[in-house]
Amino acid sequence: MKANQKNLRIDLKDADPDIFDAIQGEIEREQSKIVLIASENYVSRAVLEAQGSILTNKYAEGYPGKRYYGGCEYVDVVESKAIERAKKIFGAEHVNVQPHSGSSANMAVYMSVLKPGDTILGMDLRHGGHLSHGAKVNFSGMVYKNVSYGVNSGTGYIDYELVRDLALAHRPKMIVSGASAYSRTIDFVKFYEIAKEVNALLLADIAHIAGLIAAGIHPSPFPYADFVTTSTHKTLRGPRGGMIMCKSAFAKGVDKFIFPGTQGGPLMHVIAAKAVAFKEALTDDFRQYQKAIVLNAGRLCTELIGRGYTIVSGGTDNHLMLVDVSNKNITGKEAEEALDKAGITVNKNTIPFDNKPPTVTSGIRLGTPAVTTRGFTESTMSEVADVIDKVLKSPHDEQNMKDQRLRVKSICESFPIYRAFD
Ligand SMILES: *Cc1c(COP(=O)(O)O)cnc(C)c1O
Repeated sequence: MKANQKNLRIDLKDADPDIFDAIQGEIEREQSKIVLIASENYVSRAVLEAQGSILTNKYAEGYPGKRYYGGCEYVDVVESKAIERAKKIFGAEHVNVQPHSGSSANMAVYMSVLKPGDTILGMDLRHGGHLSHGAKVNFSGMVYKNVSYGVNSGTGYIDYELVRDLALAHRPKMIVSGASAYSRTIDFVKFYEIAKEVNALLLADIAHIAGLIAAGIHPSPFPYADFVTTSTHKTLRGPRGGMIMCKSAFAKGVDKFIFPGTQGGPLMHVIAAKAVAFKEALTDDFRQYQKAIVLNAGRLCTELIGRGYTIVSGGTDNHLMLVDVSNKNITGKEAEEALDKAGITVNKNTIPFDNKPPTVTSGIRLGTPAVTTRGFTESTMSEVADVIDKVLKSPHDEQNMKDQRLRVKSICESFPIYRAFD
């Protein structure tokens, strides 16, 4: 057999031990640490299998039934199923499942209806917004004029009065609702009323809360938003990727600005994995899972408040919370590092009106989608809160840190993730 033919049959562990070992290391890391990163999750084995499939071999520029390549009969089935299921989950008029990420979904939406220099009104990154909502360092802030709203300094809730005042003053072409670090229900009806008043288009970016919306736990942006974008890998628990949903009137533009506007061939293996995840999202198990995420976040939050922690806005309605650690004489960066040593993975995060730079911050963001997939219950969350508190109280006490690391290990052993890969 020639070497190029042999490659079709050699396992990764023999072909490339460096990468194989790194993947084994990552499996062990995901197993032995408590992941509280609000945007991460563990996909099902079925999703992994679809994403790791030979569909990666296929070029399929275009859309089902209208491709620029031959041999698309099976990938057409895959993409059509993904679209059909997404429509069923969210009640969308039109769906495009090809965006490579949430950011590229937003890019295609903007390009389909905005001209460079047009104004976007989006949530301030430092108040919980996303880079792609007009941040200076992102294409969205370079190509478009950005005006930002934020949360009320007293309540920590989105300041809808401010949103309206800014909309009236700046007459944005598009208003972006949606956030990456906001623990309260988003009032899409209020955004809709403001958008209607100033004749702006409304984009709801549900990247974080898509799973909650799919399960009917968070109010849906339909039928209010003109466009709804999401990433597929957060609470929705699919493969890393994006999706656009929109009213029929905008369908042509959206499709055109994904392909050929901003992307080439779609990642058919990822689209297959999206289809599998969407099938899961239509089940009652998934609804129960989303409910458990919110209960777990609520319990973690209550337990932290009971231990003297300040939560931005005073609590959570969803899967995440922002903890202001400044009254604990520690920065967000130090908290992230101390927790990591104990085996709890979180991210530092600016809090609204933070006086520290984004590299330091006064807060950490905690979320429960991943641990809930593993099976953590509310009583597990109480123990996790206690570990967090003990770590943040005495991060330099070596015995304490050892004790907490052991507690984390023992919790993790009770909730195994993937069985060994063969
Ligand atoms: C995560 C996120 C995105 C997209 O992220 P990608 O990493 O580009 O997939 C977009 N908007 C919001 C609000 C997000 O939280």
